[in-house]
Amino acid sequence: MNLINFTYTLVFLLCFLITYISIYRKKREPISTPDQALDFLMEGNKVFNSPWQITKKKYRQATALEQKPFAIVLNCSDSRVPTEIIFNQLNVGSLFVVRNAGNVIAGTALGSIEYGIEQLGALLIVVLGHERCGAVIATVDAHIKQQESPSVNIQKIIRTITPAVEKVIADNNITLPCDTTIKQFIISESIKENVRLEMQNLYNSSEIIQKAIDTKKVKIVGAYYGLDDGHVKIIS
Ligand SMILES: [Zn+2]
Repeated sequence: MNLINFTYTLVFLLCFLITYISIYRKKREPISTPDQALDFLMEGNKVFNSPWQITKKKYRQATALEQKPFAIVLNCSDSRVPTEIIFNQLNVGSLFVVRNAGNVIAGTALGSIEYGIEQLGALLIVVLGHERCGAVIATVDAHIKQQESPSVNIQKIIRTITPAVEKVIADNNITLPCDTTIKQFIISESIKENVRLEMQNLYNSSEIIQKAIDTKKVKIVGAYYGLDDGHVKIIS
């Protein structure tokens, strides 16, 4: 190794060490104010742009003018289900992700998915539900207690998920009120049923999606992510 190569390697290792120590230190500090939260994000962006992030830089530059994500994922906003991380698709430009609480197609989600198919040429749509989804738990609670959220916006999410909860209760002849075990069963099954209904809604609500699936240009699947084991399983 000549002197120039040795110097480059040394600088590289020093940069890595300084940033690693910086991240380690930041993670140990509790984030308790909005400014600290912003600082933490900006630090993260510095790491993203660090000199050794060669692969990230390569993909960022390659997709800066045009993106070609191979899949669309309709996912919950839950912070424990970070789409790119759980599918190990960490390169810029891999996934077109649409997220909201409860992974529902209300609002602008449908148009976003149509854009991903028609303009970006994505080949797969994954509707991803997850274990202990807060939006589904809130819907089951609201249904059992017959209480509405004070927020009209949260009500919209709950109303979108409610048909899944009602179907699980009806299909299993469950009588309300129920005990905790039955409630957990309702939540767990409603998360999967919500995925199935959202897949059906996607197909029924969009000519673009319907045509793409019928001509086999695009496939749609439902999936369930386990918070405990980290596995994604396809829902039939
Ligand atoms: Zn969720």
